[in-house]
Amino acid sequence: DVKVEFEGDPRVLTVSNQKGGVGKTTTAVNLASALAGLGAKVLVVDLDPQGNASTALGVAHSAETPSVYDVLIDDVPVADIVQQSPESPNLYCAPSTIHLAGAEIELVSQVAREFRLRRALEEYLRDTAMDFVIIDCPPSLGLLTINAFTAASEVLIPIQCEYYALEGLSQLLGSIQMIQKHLNPELHLSTILLTMYDGRTRLAQQVADEVRTHFSEQVLESVIPRSVRVSEAPSFGQTVLAYDPTSAGAVAYREAAVEIARRGSRIAQKKEK
Ligand code: ADP
Ligand code: MG
Repeated sequence: DVKVEFEGDPRVLTVSNQKGGVGKTTTAVNLASALAGLGAKVLVVDLDPQGNASTALGVAHSAETPSVYDVLIDDVPVADIVQQSPESPNLYCAPSTIHLAGAEIELVSQVAREFRLRRALEEYLRDTAMDFVIIDCPPSLGLLTINAFTAASEVLIPIQCEYYALEGLSQLLGSIQMIQKHLNPELHLSTILLTMYDGRTRLAQQVADEVRTHFSEQVLESVIPRSVRVSEAPSFGQTVLAYDPTSAGAVAYREAAVEIARRGSRIAQKKEK
């Protein structure tokens, strides 16, 4: 059994990639569950109106459920919307509901529209001990994603090992730089996770090699394999760690979580020197 110490300020990571279907939500919930399994207290913020992270964590998110929408638009405290996931006493979710789809437009006329999530989380984290906050973003660079970028200090990018992966990456790095410059100087790319990896294809190996060459510090050793068990788990309202804890996907996410926990904010500290 792996033991990891958690101490210090909570780490706030946003799982981002402007492409859909690359494994953002799957990575957010499975890493969160794996970190919780290591003993960390983890909050997942579901910022995607589709609510897939809320589904996978087994929390209520019907239209009447108090959600991130109420936090962003009506100043409801985060503590009032957070639910514990049935999966672990260490695992929490701030759910998304369908109302969040309108938030993108409603935010435009709000005061400090880029910082609503940051302010709300700061207040919550003053009173609540959390080791990690993991934000699951929608696949676009609208105000919801910008709110995630200002609330976080770390960006985690899941990369599907396929041809266009790198092309999308330079766009995303450009967005991160823009946010750094204008809205959140702390934001940095801390982690890249290769996912849906099929080692039998040459293409997957080539993409993995290329990403490792360009981002040797950020890419985790652990790689998430393409696995049916991973994709089945959400329909049972579970992460793969609960659904099939010994499956290859669960093992890989646990390894990735250990790496992330052990690295701490090493890269951020290096940057400061
Ligand atoms: P995103 O949040 O970026 O849109 P998802 O996490 O929803 O992407 O993943 C897209 C699809 O791929 C989902 O159907 C999901 O179940 C599936 N998927 C994600 N990771 C894996 C994996 N490692 N193996 C197999 N299927 C996966
Ligand atoms: Mg998603």
